[in-house]
Amino acid sequence: MELNMLLDRLKLDHLEAQLDRVCEQASAKDLDYKDFLVSALDAEWRGRFQRTVESRLRQARFPWHKTLEQFDVDFQPSLDRRQLRELAGCGFVERASNVVILGPPGVGKTHLAVAFGVKAVEAGYTVRFMTLETLMTRLTRAKRENRLERVLQQLTYPKLLILDEIGYLPLNREEASLFFRLVVRRYERASTIVTSNKSFVDWGEVFNDHVLATAILDRLLHHATTLNIKGESYRLKEKRKAGLLGRAQSAAPAAAESPIAEEVPMTT
Ligand code: ADP
Ligand code: MG
Repeated sequence: MELNMLLDRLKLDHLEAQLDRVCEQASAKDLDYKDFLVSALDAEWRGRFQRTVESRLRQARFPWHKTLEQFDVDFQPSLDRRQLRELAGCGFVERASNVVILGPPGVGKTHLAVAFGVKAVEAGYTVRFMTLETLMTRLTRAKRENRLERVLQQLTYPKLLILDEIGYLPLNREEASLFFRLVVRRYERASTIVTSNKSFVDWGEVFNDHVLATAILDRLLHHATTLNIKGESYRLKEKRKAGLLGRAQSAAPAAAESPIAEEVPMTT
């Protein structure tokens, strides 16, 4: 059988596409049979891996592609490099524990959440990103259409679910109880990253029910790492650099309006 037909039948598409290069390199390096086989299979494996990662990145529906390497940690001294490195290793996804990222607008909460999501995709996990608003629209519609159970099941499936922007819009009682049901479903089964501009003490108002907010926090924080970003908005820094704003105050204005609770333990 011809080589091209064999590659085709074995579905070795990536090797087929790179065959000339692989053969040229093998001849240039004078590889023996075994090393040539390794380099050929390696080309196929890398291509497959890359395609899987790209497909999982699309499924995750990130708002944009941001990485941890693009995050300027020096700009946020309240963040602990070691803790960021540890989260980047995705052990928290393996352990089904959570990450809560708190801070005023513009400090990089969404950037970090997406960056951890990208790491998780690269490590082979299924990831889904959505804003709290999208989540609530989806859950309330599912309930109305008697599909709630199925949608809750779908939302329990990703090994990492990222829920962005808790606190910008207050929820009504029904929405809060739907959110609680989702948190209960994922508790100790799969990881969730949530970002919020509100400190934990304000979550009672966000969820319109203090008892429910406590129950939600209880599950969310049982196995969780909290990143509490207290610095200045990166967006404002860029505007300031461009001369569009005055000098920096001691902290971002929103941080003063919404102080982040200090009493919450950092990690369990
Ligand atoms: P938040 O979600 O806290 O409101 P974002 O994550 O949307 O903030 O960040 C606002 C913008 O600033 C984004 O484009 C983000 O990539 C960028 N940004 C924020 N913090 C940093 C940082 N420390 N280093 C590099 N870019 C940053
Ligand atoms: Mg954000």
